[in-house]
Amino acid sequence: MTALLLAGGPVAARIRGDVAERAAALTRLGRTPRLAVVTATDDEASAWYVRSIAKAAGKVGIDCDIVDLGAEASGAEITAALERLSADEGVHGLMLQTPLPGGARLEDLAGAIVPAKDVDGASPLSLGRLAAGLPAFAPATAEAVLTLLDHYQVELQGRHVVVVGRSTVVGKPAAHLLLDRNATVTVCHSRTTDLAALTGTADVLVAAVGRTALITPAHVRPGATVIDVGTNPTEDGGLAGDVDPAVAGTAGALTPVPGGVGPVTTALLLRHTVRAAEG
Ligand code: NAP
Repeated sequence: MTALLLAGGPVAARIRGDVAERAAALTRLGRTPRLAVVTATDDEASAWYVRSIAKAAGKVGIDCDIVDLGAEASGAEITAALERLSADEGVHGLMLQTPLPGGARLEDLAGAIVPAKDVDGASPLSLGRLAAGLPAFAPATAEAVLTLLDHYQVELQGRHVVVVGRSTVVGKPAAHLLLDRNATVTVCHSRTTDLAALTGTADVLVAAVGRTALITPAHVRPGATVIDVGTNPTEDGGLAGDVDPAVAGTAGALTPVPGGVGPVTTALLLRHTVRAAEG
């Protein structure tokens, strides 16, 4: 058996088409959507990701400002920048890029992003609203998991979904979104004993860990749908997922890395920005 490839490209293209139309309508009203991305790192992978967001934004008619505070920026400086941009009427979407200086966590500083502009769902307020089932921007990566499953018509109601990873940006919000869709959700993490025994019972397996090829064929029930969120740098400058490519011989469907969750995540960030600009 070879798994059906759940490509993100067509899903992202459809979202970008919708976003471009809505951005053009806003521009005609003199309200071109604007996304501000605050960075405070000299991490090359992070800089590449931010440039790719800006490029994708430009292609759909969204202005994107990269606000680079430098890797020496203090938490107070980052908070001040987020507060200034939150109050700036010309900015509709606002996100804080990781990693952050001094080992600060995203959730330590993202509270300074006003929820109406929090297009990557990073602030504790947005996350609390999401957990409470109230309207909020979800973290784009977590939403991308659901968007891919919906696009490829993967049934969730009553199915057992195992999420590996419990981070605030991916694992936990994905679990909430899946629960809202009536899936039965199990969340695994680094202290889970016998990971394979749990993942092996999943109808849908979401890997959001950050360990190349952690998920092997032995972790996957034959025919299961596998969503690979992992983006791990390879020695040759490429990207590898958390899922061993050999899983394609066991799973029924599998997202590729690159080209799966990643492009959908970026497209959703842009859709959130347009929605924020629409008010
Ligand atoms: P993270 O904050 O480092 O969280 C990783 C999670 O994996 C933690 O909950 C950790 O458990 C768990 N974990 C670590 N080792 C494990 C093991 N051996 N078995 C089971 N669980 C284990 O990472 P993240 O920010 O969620 O990102 C996860 C991956 O997604 C990374 O590869 C990242 O690059 C990628 N990502 C992709 C996109 C995209 O758009 N495609 C966006 C964001 C992130 P503990 O909680 O116990 O430590």
